[in-house]
Amino acid sequence: QTIGDFFAAMAQRQGGRDALISRHQGLRYTYAELHAAARQLASALLGLGLEKGDRIGIWSHNNAEWVLMQLATAQVGLILVNINPAYRTSEVEYALNKVGCKALVTMPQFKTSDYLGMLRELAPELASCAPGRLQAKRLPALSTVIWIDAAGSDVAGQGQEQAGMLRFSQLLAQGTSADARIDAIAATLSNTDPINIQFTSGTTGFPKGATLTHRNILNNGFFIGECMRLTPEDRLCIPVPLYHCFGMVLGNLACFTHGSAIVYPNDGFDPLAVLEAVQAEKCTGLHGVPTMFIAELDHPRFAEFDLSTLRTGIMAGSPCPIEVMKRVVCNMHLSEITIAYGMTETSPVSCQSDADTPLEKRVATVGKVQPHLEVKIVDPATGETVAPGVSGELCTRGYSVMHGYWDDEAKTREAIDAEHWMHTGDLATMDDQGYVNIVGRIKDMVIRGGENIYPREIEEFLYRHPKVQDVQVVGVPDVRYGEELCAWIIVKPGQELLEDEIRDFCKGQIAHYKVPRYIRFVQAFPMTVTGKIQKFKIRDEMIELLD
Ligand code: ATP
Ligand code: MG
Repeated sequence: QTIGDFFAAMAQRQGGRDALISRHQGLRYTYAELHAAARQLASALLGLGLEKGDRIGIWSHNNAEWVLMQLATAQVGLILVNINPAYRTSEVEYALNKVGCKALVTMPQFKTSDYLGMLRELAPELASCAPGRLQAKRLPALSTVIWIDAAGSDVAGQGQEQAGMLRFSQLLAQGTSADARIDAIAATLSNTDPINIQFTSGTTGFPKGATLTHRNILNNGFFIGECMRLTPEDRLCIPVPLYHCFGMVLGNLACFTHGSAIVYPNDGFDPLAVLEAVQAEKCTGLHGVPTMFIAELDHPRFAEFDLSTLRTGIMAGSPCPIEVMKRVVCNMHLSEITIAYGMTETSPVSCQSDADTPLEKRVATVGKVQPHLEVKIVDPATGETVAPGVSGELCTRGYSVMHGYWDDEAKTREAIDAEHWMHTGDLATMDDQGYVNIVGRIKDMVIRGGENIYPREIEEFLYRHPKVQDVQVVGVPDVRYGEELCAWIIVKPGQELLEDEIRDFCKGQIAHYKVPRYIRFVQAFPMTVTGKIQKFKIRDEMIELLD
């Protein structure tokens, strides 16, 4: 089955039930309405001359149009290209050209980001071309720019006409849900056709474009929803971005494969909007990366909100501190919250705990391998599978492994071996019951004077200090020891903390070589829009500071 077939069947069954609530736009769709609107949009996209296999980019924060694009492209075999809304001109130029996008959907302005302004800078030809007839020197494949004219309350410039571009609402009006071409094309699609290109987060360097098929992400969404025990009664609050698989697969597809409703609290992340959305929409589920949950729990107005409807959700994307998991379970009613582990290249989830996993295991591991997938832990040097409890590189195999990196044979072959194992670059252990623990990234491991140190372990330890709100540990080059440990610490609001207090806290508790040599107090960490901390930037900045 393709995503289009699956959604059509679900819309038949779920007709009048809520499918999508976009709070910042004041929009609500039932399954039947969303299906009809997605068909209408698919018809309009065909009207632009787009054909099966063509790439169409979306460069926007979360909104209803994003979901419509996801469903419309899936109906007619167009490949949706998710573009990070934090990208600026040179990155967007790279992404659009890398995959040869023929069309792009974007929002006008959001806070300080002027998307249409950036596009005009890249393609000054827009000023004098007819909509859909762009020929730009720097964006040779791109012919159509569509801008979302009802993007939400925080978005500026919504009323005006924009030279050379189409309004989303105008485009939609050109289609009809009764278009027979949609069904004719749908009949030619296969679940192994590429449907989506997602760029990795860029946590460790330059983002890579992973090509994913219907089979990849539809199955993954389904099994994620199974682990969460989603039903048509569930309403999942999704503050994580849609451009990333967390929002698009763990959010949208997990819900749509179970007839549940999705709720977007806002376009960018705002902890208050999340708390308000959960209360107002009586959400039963909430997703987030650890930093989002921390921001919600620590919000000064946290206690005012009734979150008692919450039951389930997923914490993922980066190491999930045990303390944060415990607070989420105790203070947010998320008794069935699970941790998922995965990567863009594997649709994304490979391991996940479920509500039956004992709490201690649930907060301390990423659960077990998902159904119909394989996981093994190998010695990175020899490729041999290691014994239980021994750390090595996690490799995974099965339906979830991407088609490949778009237009990059060499990188694909580096990541996926001849026996179809995806090498994740993550260090993990597996116990004799099959529970997997992520130890860190191979790239982040610090080797100080011959000792292997996993930053994650030190972070978990320092996180227990009562004045520490958040902490990151990296290795920086050192003449004497090869590498030295460095901790960046965000202190809890209203508290003061001295370097020596941290050193005293470590004394006698962790081995001397694990006590950070450098400690720096900061207000924030360098982050991707998904809220993932970019350790390589912390490292680079420290190297500069120490110079
Ligand atoms: P890039 O590949 O561009 O450097 P990235 O690896 O962060 O960026 P993603 O595909 O978004 O891009 O993230 C996948 C990575 O996130 C995994 O390889 C792993 O390192 C980390 N990760 C995901 N889930 C977890 C988890 N539950 N616990 C620890 N780490 C996790
Ligand atoms: Mg990666």
